[in-house]
Amino acid sequence: SLTACSSERSGGDATATSGSTEAAKGFPANSLIGVALPAKTSENWVLAGDLFTNGLKDAGFQSDVQYAGSSTTVADQQAQISAMTTKGAKVIVIGATDAAQLSTQVEAAKQAGATIIAYDRLIKNTQGVDYYVAYDNFKVGELQGQALLDGMAKKKAKGPYTIELFSGSSDDNNSAVFFDGAMSVLKPKIDSGDVVVGSGQTDIKQTATDGWKAENAQRRMDSLLTSTYGSKTLDGVLSPNDTLARAIITSVKGAGKPLPIVTGQDSEVESVKSIVAGEQYSTINKDTRNLVAQTIQMVKDLQAGKTPEVNDTKSYNNGVKVVPSFLLPPMIVTKDNVVEAYANDPNLAPLTK
Ligand code: BGC
Repeated sequence: SLTACSSERSGGDATATSGSTEAAKGFPANSLIGVALPAKTSENWVLAGDLFTNGLKDAGFQSDVQYAGSSTTVADQQAQISAMTTKGAKVIVIGATDAAQLSTQVEAAKQAGATIIAYDRLIKNTQGVDYYVAYDNFKVGELQGQALLDGMAKKKAKGPYTIELFSGSSDDNNSAVFFDGAMSVLKPKIDSGDVVVGSGQTDIKQTATDGWKAENAQRRMDSLLTSTYGSKTLDGVLSPNDTLARAIITSVKGAGKPLPIVTGQDSEVESVKSIVAGEQYSTINKDTRNLVAQTIQMVKDLQAGKTPEVNDTKSYNNGVKVVPSFLLPPMIVTKDNVVEAYANDPNLAPLTK
C-alpha cells in the first residue's frame, strides 16, 4: 500500500533516480514489447489492450499484448510473462492480476535483459520492477470519499449520515490505496459521529470484493440490506469502481429501497449513462488514452537509451524498493461536470448530450 517513506534518493534529481544499465544502451527500434494485462474486470482494461496494440505499432515496435483469463488468472499471467521473456521482449508492461505473485517471472525477465514497467497496478516484493505508471490512486480514494460526503449533504442538510463501505480485490495493490485515500476523508467524520457505518464493517478485510466481481459486491449488498436496513435509511455507499457501483445499485433496487449516493471509478459507459440519469452519483475520469500514451513514451525513451521521466520517487514502496513512478491526476465526475469532463472523449461525449 501507499507508504510515505523517505526514498533513498530523496532530494536527488528525479531523472537521476532510475534506469537500468540496459536502459542506458537502448535497443533496436523494431524490438518486441510485451504487454501482460489482467482479466477484463473493467472497461479500462479492454481499452488499454487496443490502445497498446495500436500505439506500439504506430511507434514502430512489435508487440505481444495478452490478457489473463478469467479463472486461472495468476498462472496465465505468469506463463505469458515467461513467454514474452523467451521471445526476447525488451520491455514488459504488466498490469498485475496478483501484485504478490509475479516476482519469479519478473526477475527472470530482468535477467534476460528486459525492463519492467508496472502499469496501473504495482508489483510487490521484487527488485525487478523498474518503473510504475498509474493515475494517483490515493487521490482517487480521496476524491471518492469527498464525493460521497458532498452527495449526501446535497440530499440531506444535516447528519448523521449512514453509509456502507466497499473495497476492491485484495490481490490488487490499488485496492488498499483507494480505500486508504477514501478513509483519510471519511474517518474524521466517522470519529465525530457525523457519519455512521451502519453494519459496523470498516475493516478492509470485511469490505473487500474478491476478483473485483460484480456478483460478489451484489451478494454482500443484498446481505447488508437484510441484516441492517430493515427500517434504517442507507444514505451512501463508498464503491471503489463503476462495475461494483452498478451491482450495488442493482441490489438496492431489487430490495425496493431508495437509492443511496453511490461513488465509482473508471467512467464506464453504463455508469456515465447512470450518472446522467441521476442514479449513480459519481465516477472518476482516468482517461486510459493518457495512461497508455505515458507508458509508450517510457518505452520510446528506453529504446533511445534515455532515462524515462518520473514525477514521484517516494510514494510507492513495493516492500523491497521504492519504485520510481509517473503518476497522472484523476478527476472526479458528477452530473454537475459530466459534459465538460468527457468533451474530448469521442465515446463518452455523445452520452452526455
Ligand atoms: C484499476 C481500476 C479498476 C479495477 C478493476 C484497478 O486496479 O485501477 O481502475 O476499476 O482495477 O478492474
